[in-house]
Amino acid sequence: MSATRVGIGIDFHRLQEGRELILGGVRVPYDKGLAGHSDADVLTHALCDALLGAAALGDIGTHFPDDDDAYRGICSLTLLERIVNLLAQVGFQPHNVDAVIIAEEPKLTAHFPAMRAQLASILHVSADHIGLKATTSEGMGALGRSEGIGAMCVCLIETA
Ligand code: MG
Repeated sequence: MSATRVGIGIDFHRLQEGRELILGGVRVPYDKGLAGHSDADVLTHALCDALLGAAALGDIGTHFPDDDDAYRGICSLTLLERIVNLLAQVGFQPHNVDAVIIAEEPKLTAHFPAMRAQLASILHVSADHIGLKATTSEGMGALGRSEGIGAMCVCLIETA
């Protein structure tokens, strides 16, 4: 019998000078990047947590602890790939994803096709199963002051 499950993920990272900005596996030209133990790809992290949550497999921090040197500077797409494999081991595959990035700047929509293609290839779905959006927080709060970037993601997984 086939089954579907929904999952949610949310993540935030601080912006910092001297780092590259990586979102959805794509390098976005900007004068700052996100701080973190890995490449700090906040969008991919939210997606990882949504997939893990849908399968009730815990969260990204449990699987890839941020005090483990093995994950220092790691490309978050590698983590995503491992999570897709974990899901496969318990009989699930991703179906579709909807995500929103919360960032005052830079403008992101021009990079969405590359991000969607990148994420779709790792999830083994077509790019039209990856919804991506961006919003600002209208200058309010820490994200509104461009102190960081946030991402939220929901996903559906189905029995393989
Ligand atoms: Mg994170």
